[in-house]
Amino acid sequence: MEIIVAHTAGFCFGVNRAVDSVYKNIGQQPLYTYGPIIHNPQVVGELREKNVIPVNSLDEVEEGTIIIRSHGVSKDVYDTINRKGLTYIDSTCPYVKRIHKIVDEYSKKGYQVMIVGDREHPEVQGISGWSNGETIIVEKTEDLEGLNLSKTKPICLVSQTTYREDRFESILKALKDHQYEVEGFNTICKATSDRQQEAVKIAKMVDKMIVIGGRDSSNTKKLYEICKKFCKETYHIETLEDLELNKFNSNDKIGITAGASTPARIIKEVITAMNDLENHGNESFEELLNQSFVTLRSGQIVKGTVIH
Ligand code: SF4
Repeated sequence: MEIIVAHTAGFCFGVNRAVDSVYKNIGQQPLYTYGPIIHNPQVVGELREKNVIPVNSLDEVEEGTIIIRSHGVSKDVYDTINRKGLTYIDSTCPYVKRIHKIVDEYSKKGYQVMIVGDREHPEVQGISGWSNGETIIVEKTEDLEGLNLSKTKPICLVSQTTYREDRFESILKALKDHQYEVEGFNTICKATSDRQQEAVKIAKMVDKMIVIGGRDSSNTKKLYEICKKFCKETYHIETLEDLELNKFNSNDKIGITAGASTPARIIKEVITAMNDLENHGNESFEELLNQSFVTLRSGQIVKGTVIH
């Protein structure tokens, strides 16, 4: 078995920074995060046990400190925090902050703001909340059809940081082809494009691909879609418990990557499990598989060794 692990797997700079800010402030009571700090239920669950409470609305907070996660929030959220006299720690990723600034500035100049991204994603909703005028959100080129865009106002086009670059580029091209005056800002974060490019490279080389990350993590879902294009047997797992070891053979070449909100611990557990299969060789593969399946489910992994 050959295992190739992506260098780019796991927390990106922005997520690392946000998660760090939570851990540094544990003990301050009460401590809230505006939405789950990352799309990873295991980490959010662990933090909840340490009295870090994710809230979806400021109506749920009357006092204490609130941490703004890397996705960022709209301008009115800051207004409400200030009006309520709450303390806040701003862990908005600087790359997202840059988009807020662009949208704020260009909408003030009279541009129509268009965001390429997932309309339900909190980052997109946050960006939209920095526009001083009407904002259009598009997910794919076809969404442009039927839009009542003004040809007298220029368009300021930005992208969700974790969105697919090909979608952004095709929308920019379609707008230009239709003679719209457009100022395009490719705001896709390099961490995302590097991760996606590396995932493609690995997916093309392997028999099976494992993508680790939260079920609700948009960048993980995209990573899965991309890998699936090049490697039919791509599996999206959230934790080691989802890994069906019986799908893997001892002579497989396996690729592993992970979304931006996947803790190193979970990635390590998966690598350890695969390594463990590899180290036992062909002869005991079936036997090991049965043992490991039960043992791994108990999650007892210490220093890379599965305790039987
Ligand atoms: Fe920031 Fe990029 Fe990470 Fe998003 S993916 S949090 S923009 S570093």
